[in-house]
Amino acid sequence: MTVWYTSKLMEDSIKISVLDIIDGTVVDGPGFRLSIYCAGCGHRCKGCHNPQSWDIGAGRQVTVGELLETVKASPWNVTFSGGDPFYQAAEFAYLARRIKEDTSRTIWCYTGFTLEELILENDPVRMELLRLVDVLVDGPFVEGLRDEQLGFRGSSNQRILDAGEIAAILQK
Ligand code: SF4
Repeated sequence: MTVWYTSKLMEDSIKISVLDIIDGTVVDGPGFRLSIYCAGCGHRCKGCHNPQSWDIGAGRQVTVGELLETVKASPWNVTFSGGDPFYQAAEFAYLARRIKEDTSRTIWCYTGFTLEELILENDPVRMELLRLVDVLVDGPFVEGLRDEQLGFRGSSNQRILDAGEIAAILQK
């Protein structure tokens, strides 16, 4: 179980390496969304659309508090993407928790890990982030399975899993 900071002030000062923030995108989940693209990804998928996101040092340091204010200022639901947010799982778990505390926004989260890999690894911090998101889009980009007709995914191995589907796989 993650030990949460007891002070919101401390939580809000935690920094996330962020590459970009787009308010009102329609490609990262249903409807208009506020997408937070983080730096840092170790999957190195062949044909990755965004290899400049691999270096976690490529982003700028933005606090959870600043990101929370950006979320509150936007009318849209939220997407965590990258890079891979699960390489900054503790930081994104804090942000997700604060979003859930202070707003009614739903959270979609992209990762290059499969849900089964995350469950097998059973890292408590990554599992905490998993529990806090409403939808997980999982799996690496596989060039041979690329399909431009897919909604919100690059290749057909990737799945869009809602909280019920995640819970069902967790209980297997
Ligand atoms: S998981 Fe995404 S960002 Fe990371 S290498 Fe694969 S396609 Fe690129």
